[in-house]
Amino acid sequence: MKHIAYYDLARLTHAHSSALKEAAARVIDSGRYLRGECEREFEKKWATFVGTKHCVAVGNGLDALTLALMALNRQRGWQQGDEVIVPALTFVATALAVARAGLVPVMADVGEADGLIDLDSAEHCLTSRTRAIIPVHLYGAPCPMPVITEWARQRGLSVVEDAAQAHGATVGGRCVGSWGDIGCFSFYPGKNLGALGDGGAVCTNSETLAIAIRQLANYGATEKYVHQWQGMNSRMDELQAAILTAKTKWQDGETRRRREIAERYGQGIRNPKVRIPYGGQTEQSVFHIYPLRCPEREALQAHLLEHGIETLVHYPLPLHKQPVFFNAECRLPRSERWASEELSLPIGPYLTDQETDQIIEAINTFK
Ligand SMILES: *Cc1c(COP(=O)(O)O)cnc(C)c1O
Repeated sequence: MKHIAYYDLARLTHAHSSALKEAAARVIDSGRYLRGECEREFEKKWATFVGTKHCVAVGNGLDALTLALMALNRQRGWQQGDEVIVPALTFVATALAVARAGLVPVMADVGEADGLIDLDSAEHCLTSRTRAIIPVHLYGAPCPMPVITEWARQRGLSVVEDAAQAHGATVGGRCVGSWGDIGCFSFYPGKNLGALGDGGAVCTNSETLAIAIRQLANYGATEKYVHQWQGMNSRMDELQAAILTAKTKWQDGETRRRREIAERYGQGIRNPKVRIPYGGQTEQSVFHIYPLRCPEREALQAHLLEHGIETLVHYPLPLHKQPVFFNAECRLPRSERWASEELSLPIGPYLTDQETDQIIEAINTFK
């Protein structure tokens, strides 16, 4: 029985270690470690990949979301305490960014089938103070952006996409992160495109917003030592930018492999206690996460571990049950059920067919 880690970063990195070491060595020898050529080059590459006019590289995904909201806040004259709708099922950063920007996150429920923000529930969150919505392309699956942007436009709301889990996912051939006013990415090592440290990016077609985000990420400076805004310090260092530029070469291949593994899971998993994601459809998601549903989640997780297979839960608590955002009155039954039933299988692009089959067999023998 082979041990299968949930996600083995060493294994992923070793496949390309000589190219990555060369990229790092070039930066080390260059004498320039911040705000240099590598950051600019990656910004150009990422804007082209996502399909937006502008990309601003920043320190991490939480900063990307925070800066996006700060820039909109400034441009559109929002007030302290104005509200932003977020799905209750997401990583905490989505809502923390709202709070950091001086706004109030309001939690909407998600869809039963896909775990993505549900517009009927979002409709119930609307008040006179609602200013924006943050669709999260959770697990790598794109939200239906044409519907969401039209819904938001009719209500005068801004759209910030949280694409931290969905590098390269598309709707109608167009990448997520290019549909909203602003799209935000994380390059945390475990994401589909991951740095060897922290990194993030903000994408937009608006030059005004791009300039605002660049200033806010650079101490609120409009020119050197002239500080117009209470900004922050958030930048992508040259080492990470060079590593990410190198890694974009393998990104399409890795996404294809994730989809192949998802396809194999979808065909192979046959257990009446377990539901597979998206009815087994694999062409939409980039499968950052392969989210099973099982009402006996803890027992399944223990069973898989006995068979050498590590799994994780994304996420055990919906936002309104998190201590930091706890709201006893709030009832979001579908998010709560996802949180109690979801189990994430390993889906690293390096997994072999044999390993995938070992995982399938272990699930199928769960009683
Ligand atoms: C990872 C993640 C973030 C935050 O990214 P960091 O780079 O870790 O700050 C935000 N939103 C979602 C949905 C994420 O998965």
